[in-house]
Amino acid sequence: MSTPYRIAVIEGDGIGPEITLATLNVLEKLRRRYNLNIDLVKVEVGDRALAKFGSAVPEESWKIIELSDAILKGPVGESAGDVVVKIRRGLDLYANIRPAKVYPGVRALRNNVDLVIVRENTEDVYVRAEYMLPEDVAVALRVISRRACRRISKIAFEIAHKRKKHLTVVHKANVLSLSDGLFRDAVYEMGRTMYPDVTVNEMYVDAAVMDLVRRPELFDVIVTTNLYGDILSDLAAYVTGSIGLAASANIGDNKAMFEPIHGAAFDIAGKGIANPAAMMLSLSWLFKWLGEKRGDHSMLIAGKEVENAVIATLSKGERLTPDLGGSSSTQEFTEAVISKISL
Ligand code: ATP
Repeated sequence: MSTPYRIAVIEGDGIGPEITLATLNVLEKLRRRYNLNIDLVKVEVGDRALAKFGSAVPEESWKIIELSDAILKGPVGESAGDVVVKIRRGLDLYANIRPAKVYPGVRALRNNVDLVIVRENTEDVYVRAEYMLPEDVAVALRVISRRACRRISKIAFEIAHKRKKHLTVVHKANVLSLSDGLFRDAVYEMGRTMYPDVTVNEMYVDAAVMDLVRRPELFDVIVTTNLYGDILSDLAAYVTGSIGLAASANIGDNKAMFEPIHGAAFDIAGKGIANPAAMMLSLSWLFKWLGEKRGDHSMLIAGKEVENAVIATLSKGERLTPDLGGSSSTQEFTEAVISKISL
């Protein structure tokens, strides 16, 4: 038998354990259906790990994460920043990819949204270099390097190439002429030299937020720096309906982590009504990513099956959780998804 896929699972906090349980039930059905060779390991990470071991990512958990092929991560509470920075930096997951799409049967602010935001994940103000000058002046460093611009551009062009071949670079180079200028120019240069069939246009970030709401059909793939990407992607998720539907990926050259974009939602934790769709779509993406990497047809099909089953359940509109206007529980939604996966 082939080498197993080592998948580290982080349940997270708040609704994290509920939506993880639901998603692992879907995974079990697929494992049996396609005879998938998966080695799942749950790791303690997040607020509970912090309380128990004094670290949000204890050494034991880190060793397992480091050795895994991919990570499926639920939402983490207060310690989310520490966890995400540790994993992104430690594994050099430099691209944050967030699709925003309106699914059938979901009431959205705008119906014509189908885009992907590719956000640089390692630099910008997230280098967290802030200091005080005398006289009560605070300064934050913003770092943009050509190397980071080039590798994020490559990912964005690869995605754009497989879609409508249209890439928008979002920046504010009229103010930040050196740092955002470097980012913009690196994108154009890569387009000219390596992806001449992809059309590139640019937009200031203030115009982009307006058009994401006003004319979202203008966008196919957006590439942008870390901070703008953070803000744009939350807005894009909101425009598409429930935040409970949006999955995201943090991708590096060899490893990747997949997670819902929503937080731990402590307000509904333990009530059994959380929407597990974003976590299931994260699993779908993880399967597809691993399948593509190893050229494994079964994993690719399994990934597609999860996505189709979630979309079919949403389209039917019968077993929706309260965030989507329904009255079903997490478990009822999950059973509906599982029933749509072929035997
Ligand atoms: P964070 O800062 O970690 O993003 P937050 O409290 O700002 O946390 P969320 O935890 O994502 O944001 O919650 C925002 C709102 O969306 C809450 O009312 C929450 O109940 C709801 N919500 C988030 N995720 C889900 C989900 N999967 N199912 C149902 N409701 C959700």
